[in-house]
Amino acid sequence: MPEFLFIKESSINRLGCFTSKFISKDHCIAEYEGEIISAEEAIKREEDLNRSGIYTFWLNDDHAIDGYDKGNHTKYFNHSCDPSCHYEIAGNKILFYASRDIQNNEELTIDYDYDANSGLVVCLCGSANCRGYLNEVVENV
Ligand SMILES: [Zn+2]
Repeated sequence: MPEFLFIKESSINRLGCFTSKFISKDHCIAEYEGEIISAEEAIKREEDLNRSGIYTFWLNDDHAIDGYDKGNHTKYFNHSCDPSCHYEIAGNKILFYASRDIQNNEELTIDYDYDANSGLVVCLCGSANCRGYLNEVVENV
């Protein structure tokens, strides 16, 4: 994990991941680390109220990476409707890239793009184009 990533309180949600240096657009920032688990195990962990947070990142319908115990700073990437980063899934890897130039001390965010069927989660990202939810909401026209 790059040493320029650091964790501090975020205005979006509890803790966030920030950068201590400028990152240029399209730069590959880091990989999501953790334990590769089955869908069944991922759902069990997501519903476990004894855990202080959910850090499962789904690779596909069958597997997820759980960063709860073995994750790096990327597990603190918060959701934003106007994110600074995006991710790409390649096999069992999840890689984060800068979607634009990111300044020193900026928070790194991605679009969680939750399935609308999994229950709406209110968004507090504060961006001008905030859609109100972490889910990808399909609006009726
Ligand atoms: Zn938002």
